[in-house]
Amino acid sequence: MRPTMVAGNWKMNGLSADAVHLTQAILSADLEQMRPEVVLFPPYTLLHAVTQEAKGTALRWGGQNLFWEPNGAYTGEISGAMLRDMGCRYVLVGHSERRQIFAETDELVARKVKAALSSGLIPVVCVGESEAERAQGATEQVLQRQVEAILPLLNLESNQPNLIIAYEPIWAIGTGQSASPEEAQTVHAFIRKLVAGHSSQLAKRLILLYGGSVKGNNAAALFEQEDIDGALVGGASLSAGEFIQICRAAE
Ligand code: PEP
Repeated sequence: MRPTMVAGNWKMNGLSADAVHLTQAILSADLEQMRPEVVLFPPYTLLHAVTQEAKGTALRWGGQNLFWEPNGAYTGEISGAMLRDMGCRYVLVGHSERRQIFAETDELVARKVKAALSSGLIPVVCVGESEAERAQGATEQVLQRQVEAILPLLNLESNQPNLIIAYEPIWAIGTGQSASPEEAQTVHAFIRKLVAGHSSQLAKRLILLYGGSVKGNNAAALFEQEDIDGALVGGASLSAGEFIQICRAAE
């Protein structure tokens, strides 16, 4: 059985006091007893506050982005080593907001995945089609392009999960319109098959998250699907009650 994970992407939200309250409220849910690994992705400015609350607990955290160079004259950027220094285990790479607003191409995403892996971080790589691509019936083509851009970077020998993929259809992000469990399962199975073409061992152990309007009331049906191993949660991760409900649905 694969491990499960529920991750909260806070995006560009919150000040220190919010981070302390939210982290404390999530920790009150006794995460040690929960099956999924629970991970928070706060903005960089809140990593310290989350670390202070979460160190020594079962809660994990990560960065929302990274730059591919280890250090140097890259004003405003953050490296994998800096995230490791903040105790991060994970990093989001290629979120659709980064791809769309900041023009991150598959090639840049691949560079970031490489940098994350060489810094000892586990990249959570986001893939997903837009509304228009879906309407054109191009979902599989888009996913194939996005997934194949990162597959050559993976260490097939490792038994540890060295990469997580989050399927996040862009039309479902922040819209309240989640993919149905069956729709999401079909795409997850497709992604796992793509990975299996590269390595069947890797495909079997690959953690595949679904993201896009996951809430307390639709999480359980998504998690029942064979190839859905958890969720990447945006909006609902800013409410401790809702987020804990989603974590419990992955039990
Ligand atoms: C996200 O941005 O990663 C996300 C899944 O957002 P939401 O849950 O708000 O749709």
